[in-house]
Amino acid sequence: MKANCRAMALILALTVLAGCHKRPEGNMVDLALVNGKVWTGDAARPWAEAVAVRGEKIFAAGTTAEVRKLVGEGTKLVDLGGALVLPGFIDSHTHFLAGGFALKSIALREAKSREDFVARIAAKARELGPGRWILNGDWDHQPFDPVELPRRDWIDAVTPDNPVCVNRLDGHMILANSAALKLAGVTRATPVPPGGEIVVDPATGEPTGILKDTAMDLVYAQIPEPAFAEKLEAAEASIRHAAANGVTSVHEMADAASFEVFEELARLGRLTTRVHVYIPITEVDLLVRLKMKSPFGGPYLKLAGLKAFMDGSLGSATACFFEPYTDEPGTSGLLHGQMYPEGIMERRILEADRAGLQLAVHAIGDRANSLLLDMYGKAVAANGPRDRRWRVEHAQHLRPADIARFGKLGLVAAVQPYHAIDDGRWAEGKIGPERLKTTYAFESLRRAGAVLAFGSDWTVAPLEPLMGIYAAVTRRTPDGKNPDGWVAGEKVTVEQAVRAYTVNGAWAEFAESSKGTIGPGKLADLVVLDRDIFSIAPEGIGEAKVRMTVFDGRIVHGTVR
Ligand SMILES: [Zn+2]
Repeated sequence: MKANCRAMALILALTVLAGCHKRPEGNMVDLALVNGKVWTGDAARPWAEAVAVRGEKIFAAGTTAEVRKLVGEGTKLVDLGGALVLPGFIDSHTHFLAGGFALKSIALREAKSREDFVARIAAKARELGPGRWILNGDWDHQPFDPVELPRRDWIDAVTPDNPVCVNRLDGHMILANSAALKLAGVTRATPVPPGGEIVVDPATGEPTGILKDTAMDLVYAQIPEPAFAEKLEAAEASIRHAAANGVTSVHEMADAASFEVFEELARLGRLTTRVHVYIPITEVDLLVRLKMKSPFGGPYLKLAGLKAFMDGSLGSATACFFEPYTDEPGTSGLLHGQMYPEGIMERRILEADRAGLQLAVHAIGDRANSLLLDMYGKAVAANGPRDRRWRVEHAQHLRPADIARFGKLGLVAAVQPYHAIDDGRWAEGKIGPERLKTTYAFESLRRAGAVLAFGSDWTVAPLEPLMGIYAAVTRRTPDGKNPDGWVAGEKVTVEQAVRAYTVNGAWAEFAESSKGTIGPGKLADLVVLDRDIFSIAPEGIGEAKVRMTVFDGRIVHGTVR
């Protein structure tokens, strides 16, 4: 206390000398985390014990003794008890606003009986209030006893004022209640659209509320675009979910509508995730006209650049390969619609490059990747050297010769480790053993000089960096069939994986001077874990939990006891 008083007096004097009166505590800090194990991400000084935060920035990282000297009366002091601290995670590929809608929608997958199904819908109607649609659901009637499809008369009494349109988990049928059928004008007299079915009660001939395939569109067409207030609610669900997972920054693969929502949250001071938004490459002319360069914006929200698609996905056999699919020899995949008319992608890339815009282009199959590398190479040759940090999203299947090109072009490989272990269950069946060798080739890309930026692709995979780190380090598939790792030569170390979720994510968005590491002057985005993932067996990383998340100098999730 005495020492504090002396320090206070000195600091008061200094602040008076400096002509600064707004901080009576002078050199004291707002938040001090001590007695921890801090991985800073700074190669010159990778480890520390303590972090001091003032305002929204890190003031110091050092020993506990050093940081304790900065503790004053107004300081929130957190004793970490040896816990591991990392820079806040940066998820480099999400569908962040869409994820919020998924979090907020009704969960019917878990409904194991008719009563449970009805009760969940009734609860959702009470929660939403009159007039709002009840959507999504992913129900399954197989566990019901007796096994029967749900009917609108089960739920009409609990949803008189809420249209309901909830889908079966396969997406091939929906249950609509009477309110929804009325809006859609569906009656016993409605003609059945080709490729669809309107299920009717055999006794009365009235629709039961089950619509299949193309008939679903009759109701889908009535669902209004969500109101702005609903988008805000979804965005707030996303940012809470991010904080719970230690994610302090996301790269949002979306559109201007998403930007508008996060902009409003930022304006209201309620944005607790930094959002870096990529919008479709079809908007290139608009950004060029506005003379916008990447990245545009501030520390909370940025317009990052342009997102494009070269091809489809492996699971649906639409990723574009040089050779046919092993299990479907009649196809080698498809180029995306954005590739047509021919030559348009290359022209847009050149135009974006001349304007100084960053590109993030989805490429999954080996041919899609190769074509993209050609286009990137041509743009560099045409427009000359520049710090572009162009990205390849997914970079999933690569010809061995193309891996080196990632390094030569200084590209970011924006890859998703959880997809690797998830697809690892069935990918060999689709592409065979030879192409498998350079699949999800994280370590080869890293060694070739590409910058690995990890992400989740949430909601396709969970927004859980710890799960991503586990996947990248172990490459164990969830079916337990690859205990030593699937395509094991492509495992990376824990440090490399953490780096890909922090330092490299910041680099991928031109923000390495302000975040991604823990050091003086950096934004105070931190995550505290419940175990030391650097020292435990890698198999245990998947069970690690986030204890506390600090965003912009404030604790936004959890606590350390
Ligand atoms: Zn995606």
